[in-house]
Amino acid sequence: MPASPALVPVRDDLEALEGYHSPQVDVAVRLNTNESPVAPPDGWRDAFAAELSRVEWHRYPDRAATSLREGIAALHGVRPDQVFAANGSNEVLQTLLLTYAGPGRTVATFEPTYQLHGHIARLTGATVAEGERAADFTLDLQEVERVLADAQPVVTFLCSPNNPTGLEEPASHVAAVLAAAPGLVVVDEAYGQFASWTALDLIDDARPLVVTRTFSKTWSMAGSRLGYLIGPSWLVAELDKVILPYHLDSAKQIAGRLALRYVDEMEERVKLIITERERIAAAFATLPVDAFPSGANFILFRPRTMGGRAVWQALLDRDILVRDCSSWPRLDDCLRVTVGTPSENDLFVAALREVLA
Ligand code: PMP
Repeated sequence: MPASPALVPVRDDLEALEGYHSPQVDVAVRLNTNESPVAPPDGWRDAFAAELSRVEWHRYPDRAATSLREGIAALHGVRPDQVFAANGSNEVLQTLLLTYAGPGRTVATFEPTYQLHGHIARLTGATVAEGERAADFTLDLQEVERVLADAQPVVTFLCSPNNPTGLEEPASHVAAVLAAAPGLVVVDEAYGQFASWTALDLIDDARPLVVTRTFSKTWSMAGSRLGYLIGPSWLVAELDKVILPYHLDSAKQIAGRLALRYVDEMEERVKLIITERERIAAAFATLPVDAFPSGANFILFRPRTMGGRAVWQALLDRDILVRDCSSWPRLDDCLRVTVGTPSENDLFVAALREVLA
């Protein structure tokens, strides 16, 4: 539906910006948004319902989300004052950028990567310096040095595993970026549990590095919107000034705190998804597609014999929705499939085989 004419002009710098879109279509097999294909454990659901019934709804929630922070800190072996939680890791990223970016400051990204890093930076009024990845989507360290030296960014983003490419950033690359970056380095590990290593071990109050994580993927809790970062305590103290009071509602704090009791079940789900990811990757190897090596719960691929958009439509005609990245900059003809349940993956592979036959 076209919007009605604006009565009040928007900020000049927002006029040219487009919103972030992730179209949802009603289909049988939804493999487009990198969610967990399975629900959280029944025990979590029951414990959550029981605690919800005891919430004092007429009171504001714990503003500091104390026990949730303590639980996350214990999970990662850090102090609670090194944890900042918010409504999805997107709100964590937004708070970081409201705190450190803004007009007159520059944020660096290496494209293609998660679109919201640059998008939120622009919303704060910052300039975005877009570095280019190599043709195989790995990070080119010469390009990194060039961009960081030229742009002097206050925030430099990495994403490991990277969305939408799926590639893990090797530890040596994170170290090189840390050595060259003049400001803060953010490693977005929304898919970190699927990967072979984590930058969490590098967190130290003496290092300008943060790692962001989410409950949306491995924890099967996309519906509850909870994410966090681990970083230096001096940074967390600044974010606490910027975030709105009581931003984490009582239900969310309970949901997150209880989820942490189910680490074993979460790790089981991660194992299943990695096994399934490798099964899809093996199927890709028998099909006319180029697939990129993934350390995440999704795989980026490019059909060789048909256009990406046509393949996306043919899959949709078979009731299967994947992410159409084919019109995104640098991603000509690429599609991204989220790893689903074994039966969803069977349906996806069979449909793709038929489409490309
Ligand atoms: N970072 C990356 C790289 C993502 O892919 C996503 C989810 N699309 C997010 C952050 C945001 O996740 P959430 O806000 O659900 O925690």
